[in-house]
Order: sequence, then structure tokens, then C-alpha cells
Amino acid sequence: MEQAGKIDGNWIEDLIRKFIASSPLNTMQNEAGENAWDHALVGFASGADKIWQQYKEYVGAFHWTPWEVFNQHCPEERAAPEELTVVSWVLPQREMVRKANRRARKFPCEEWARTRIYGEEFNAALRLHIVEKLKEAGHEAIAPMLVSNWTIVKSERFSYASSWSERHAAHAAGLGTFGLCDGLITAGGKALRAGSVVARISVQPTPRPYADHRAYCLFFAEGTCGKCIDRCPVRAISEAGHDKEKCRQHLARTREYVAKAYKFEGYGCGLCQVGVPCEATIPVKAAREALERGELPPPPPPLA
Ligand code: SF4
Ligand code: SF4
Repeated sequence: MEQAGKIDGNWIEDLIRKFIASSPLNTMQNEAGENAWDHALVGFASGADKIWQQYKEYVGAFHWTPWEVFNQHCPEERAAPEELTVVSWVLPQREMVRKANRRARKFPCEEWARTRIYGEEFNAALRLHIVEKLKEAGHEAIAPMLVSNWTIVKSERFSYASSWSERHAAHAAGLGTFGLCDGLITAGGKALRAGSVVARISVQPTPRPYADHRAYCLFFAEGTCGKCIDRCPVRAISEAGHDKEKCRQHLARTREYVAKAYKFEGYGCGLCQVGVPCEATIPVKAAREALERGELPPPPPPLA
């Protein structure tokens, strides 16, 4: 078996940045032709990181490890966990999109609905672009969200969950921790979309600058906030967490609104992601300042 090729993570970050800056697909498809995204945060996680096995126990056995999904789809290139790297990115919502959605009380603003559809189309193209560039450089790669058997399954713990979660990949790659509303709070805030690629490459993993998976949420870190509870128009968030079924039902209702109000087929909500302290930053001051100083906490306990 060949060794996984060593890659400088900066090369991949550059590919992502250049694609954001130059791809014609980076558009909200509105009259002004505004960009959907203006930057990305990028992280890397080893396929051998114990966190993937912990996800199987915490999220469910159906959640793929990087080597499961890679070996299913690249059977001629079978790779051991340590030969794989997960490249993960988050695309923080632009300020004008966040600002517009802050005013929303029940249904999303037009900009948010557009980034949910057209911004995600760009995100899918970005996944394919990174896979293609890695292949051109001689490294097999796949995008777990785009494989034919990616699916959503019923979960006893989470009501439903998917076989690969971009937010969990981003958490593994040091990009953020989860909030009361289930969103991922990153250095660029919680209003975002995320993407990832699994590749047979060796890249220096990004350290995880948090001691547990909820370290950046004020509710869990300091027992305060809870602002996302009040932002949700259908009370899908409470001190007990996020009711995914209520949220899903509201999202389904937004389709009719988006078609009528904005004249395209789309949906979205994200009201809990804006107008809250974690909208565009890490609201836990100590964690934010430690991250800015480049400090790392002691190794985190297992997820439980
Ligand atoms: S709004 Fe407050 S409670 Fe909700 S996720 Fe953000 S920091 Fe946590
Ligand atoms: S996305 Fe909308 S419906 Fe779902 S929890 Fe957030 S505010 Fe509530």
C-alpha cells in the first residue's frame, strides 16, 4: 500500500479561498448578483483521530468514520485510518445576510433563503472542486455529503441524524463547538454552512482549542444566555435543547413563504443563528481570548 502523500494544508486553504474569490457559482442569484460567501475557516482532522469512533457511540453507529466512507467509495485505493485526512471548512454568513435575518420574526429574509439554496449549491461545487484538485495532484478523495448512499436516519437520541455531519467534521477539525440550538459556534460565529472532503493525504491536524464539545456556548459554559430560545418562532429550542422535529416542520412551512414572497423555490430559517451573542463570534470571553492567544486546553474527556 502506498503511503498517503504529505500535503501542506495552506495549499488546500488557498484552493478554497481562490474558488470563493473566482467561481461564478459564488452568487446569491439576486438582481445585484451578490456573492453568497466572502471567506472560509479551514481545519484538518486525522482519519485516525479517536473522535470518529466517539461519534459512532454519541451520534449513532450509522455515522460514518472517514475510513468507512472512503473505503466504500474508493475500493481500489483502500486506506487505513491514519492515511486519511478530513478537510473541513465553514462558510460564515456575510454581515448583510445576518443583518437582514436579524429583522426576521417568523420566516427567513430573502438573502438567507438565497444562501440556503444557491450558497449551498456553491458549497457542493466547492466540495467537487477540492476533490478534483486533489485527484489531479494524485490523491484519491471523496465528499461524504455527495456520495450516493449519504442518508438521514431516525435516531433515538437526536430524533434524526445523518450518516455524515459537516458540523461534526468541523468540530473534529478544531473549528468550533456546539450551542444550545445545535448550531456550531466558530471563531466566525454560528451563522454558517459547512463542508468537507475525505482524502488519502497526510496534513498536519488542526488542534482542537476546546476542552469539551459545548465550550463556546454561554448556556453551557457560564449558565447564562439562552437567547436562541426566544429567537425561535416555533419554540423548537428550550433549556433542554433543540427539538429537531419541530424545527423540521417549520422549515417545511417556509417553502410556501419563500415561493410567494421571493419567487423562487427555496426554504430556510436560521432565526436562532442571528440576533444572538454567538452570531458572529465566540461569545465565551475566556475561550475567545485563549483562542486568540493560541492556547490549548488539556485533552477533552470522551463525549458522553
Ligand atoms: S444564543 Fe446563547 S445559548 Fe444559544 S447557542 Fe448562542 S451562546 Fe448558546
Ligand atoms: S432553525 Fe428556525 S425553527 Fe429551527 S430551531 Fe432555529 S429558529 Fe427554530
